[in-house]
Amino acid sequence: MIRTDPMTAIRTTPRRKVLISGASVAGPTLAFWLNRYGYEVTVVEKAGTIRSGGYPIDVRGTALEVVRRMGILPRLREAHIDLRRLTFLDGDGSEVVSLKPHVVTGGVEGEDLEVRRGDLTDALYTAVRDDVEFLFNDSIDLLDQTRDGVDVTFRGGGRRTFDMVFGADGVHSHTRELLFGPEARFHRYLGYCFAVFTMRNTLGLSHETVMWNDPGRAAALYAVGDSDEVHAFLNFARPEPPFDAFSNPQAQRNLVATVFADAGWEIPGMLAAMRDAGDVFFDGVSQIHLPRWSSGRVALVGDAAYAPSFLTGQGTSLALVGGYMLAGSVADRDHAAGFAAYENNTREFVTLNQGLAGKGGATLFPTTAEELEQRNNRLRNLSAMPPANGRPAHSALTLPEITART
Ligand SMILES: Cc1cc2nc3c(=O)[nH]c(=O)nc-3n(C[C@H](O)[C@H](O)[C@H](O)COP(=O)(O)OP(=O)(O)OC[C@H]3O[C@@H](n4cnc5c(N)ncnc54)[C@H](O)[C@@H]3O)c2cc1C
Repeated sequence: MIRTDPMTAIRTTPRRKVLISGASVAGPTLAFWLNRYGYEVTVVEKAGTIRSGGYPIDVRGTALEVVRRMGILPRLREAHIDLRRLTFLDGDGSEVVSLKPHVVTGGVEGEDLEVRRGDLTDALYTAVRDDVEFLFNDSIDLLDQTRDGVDVTFRGGGRRTFDMVFGADGVHSHTRELLFGPEARFHRYLGYCFAVFTMRNTLGLSHETVMWNDPGRAAALYAVGDSDEVHAFLNFARPEPPFDAFSNPQAQRNLVATVFADAGWEIPGMLAAMRDAGDVFFDGVSQIHLPRWSSGRVALVGDAAYAPSFLTGQGTSLALVGGYMLAGSVADRDHAAGFAAYENNTREFVTLNQGLAGKGGATLFPTTAEELEQRNNRLRNLSAMPPANGRPAHSALTLPEITART
């Protein structure tokens, strides 16, 4: 509908209203660009505020250009974690090899960013919070698509209608379930489970990661700086996903404690710390594969649509690039043409990056003694290699220039 603004007598088109579920990485990125393209944006987040904390994450390749165009690259450069060393240990705690991290991750030293997850989400939120409506402590309960829009019922009881709705609500996306059904259909379990939490830096580690391995098990301590705290990481092979544990924090702790019960090195102390930690994040290592990323006026972005797993190190970069591409695709098109363009122009990039996980974590987390020895030999050889120029998949998409409407 075209209406006339009585003050200026200028005919203006009402701004199209959109709702985004999830305020982590993909959600605020999408919100930023949709706002630029003239949309009236609301973001609903089930948590009470932007969730800080979490493991350090990487921003690489094409995703670096997204944050540069958003104007937050300088802030993120300041927040960059200068990780200097990655040391691998054997089952008895003896050193296998100590490497520069980029040699292992395939990143580009001096260009790629590694920041605390909370530093990235804070930067994204700060970039949009004055222009976008945020509804914290709420979430989508029901979606009802009509010919002209999407009627949304919120868990808190509110009802509103939007032109489009976007699910940026992570690997266990409720929006995806409302659109396409249970997660099990789209979930590709990669054979591992992991727990991360923070604990005291009892080893005095500084700007480094130390990783212990025996067949099928890995334990790492990750010192982001010189802080009193380190990120602890416990990863283990498990052929079938432990469905009972996913919704039960005590069962998660018990499972991890049982799997690592006889392990040496610092692991007894890590298990004791896990019992008391208030920030344990446990999940299966898995990917999401969907034949389509949208249905009607609702589309998915980031982990909700194409989680690649931490084995690729590309979850955050895909969320940033996906948010940019989705917003640009609907900047000057209707939802049907826009969503088709989004998939058309982004799917190959996503597929290449999901492919970095290979057959699972067997390369980094071998499950037999023989494979572990082979991995250790490969790592020793890596120390003699020249610095990497980045994996082609990280930069396999050149961002289109999109002209803002406002
Ligand atoms: C608290 C937390 C800790 C993490 N820690 C790690 C880690 O240690 N290692 C790792 O590899 N990856 C971790 N991840 C995942 C990693 O951050 C993602 O790969 C990447 O951030 C993808 O971004 P995303 O925006 O698509 O999804 P996510 O970062 O998963 O964000 C989804 C957002 O949606 C919100 N949300 C979920 N359901 C609903 C709902 N029904 N209604 C409204 N909002 C909803 C969540 O609270 C969250 O803010 C973590 C994610 C979270 C949320």
